[in-house]
Amino acid sequence: MRLLFLGTGAAGAKKIPESEIKPGQRRCASMSIDRTVVVDVALQSFDFATKLGEDPSAVTDIFLSHSHPDHFQRSTLLQYAAAAKQRINFWCHETAVPYLHLTEEDLEQINLCTMKNMQKIQTAGMTVTALPANHVAGPDEQPVHYIFEKDDQVLFYGCDGGWLRCDTWQYMRKNGIVFTAMILDSTVGELPGNFRIGEHNTIPMLRLLVAAMRESGVLPPKATLIANHIGVPPYDALKKGDYGLLTELGMTVTHDGLVIEF
Ligand SMILES: [Zn+2]
Ligand SMILES: [Zn+2]
Repeated sequence: MRLLFLGTGAAGAKKIPESEIKPGQRRCASMSIDRTVVVDVALQSFDFATKLGEDPSAVTDIFLSHSHPDHFQRSTLLQYAAAAKQRINFWCHETAVPYLHLTEEDLEQINLCTMKNMQKIQTAGMTVTALPANHVAGPDEQPVHYIFEKDDQVLFYGCDGGWLRCDTWQYMRKNGIVFTAMILDSTVGELPGNFRIGEHNTIPMLRLLVAAMRESGVLPPKATLIANHIGVPPYDALKKGDYGLLTELGMTVTHDGLVIEF
């Protein structure tokens, strides 16, 4: 799998047009997989992909984790829909739909495909499973993590969410899932305590989570471990020294434009 990170920042990252992003700044969350799938559609992700020489008409499927504005911008979804060679598949949890405010005209340009907890679908040469995340967006919305499976690769996308929900953890263990790569929410730094415990991870939380996943075999030693959804000012930002702590955990810290292949 080839991952291209189009935006790696948490809420507070730049929700401004592409032209105003300075080097080193983080855009909001978005990532492409094998050029055909995009996960989350933040404001700048289409423009940045184009700037990097990606062909947006190659994208056939978009997966949304939840409706927060640092992950979803209707305008970006419509940019991909307009560029697509055929109607683009737009996947999200069924409870997210009311919070996306899509018009009838928008719905004519996309195939809206909804998913339920633990539902497994096949598209773009992949098997994709939606797992409930420990995160809150719309009042009745269930944010999701995804498992993307292709050939022998098994990727976990876990932004946003703090820890793992018990049913998600049990699903992984009962089904004997062994990841070849995991992307984990790494919003908050090395803080002994933080109010975001129920929705985002701090580094001490990641330490426990990674140890538990390694101990149970869900995360084998050779798996690629990625720290993403990095906290930025004005919220609890990761500090430069925190990057070293994540590296000590065996994690690669993302930056905008990073490509990871496994
Ligand atoms: Zn977020
Ligand atoms: Zn969120």
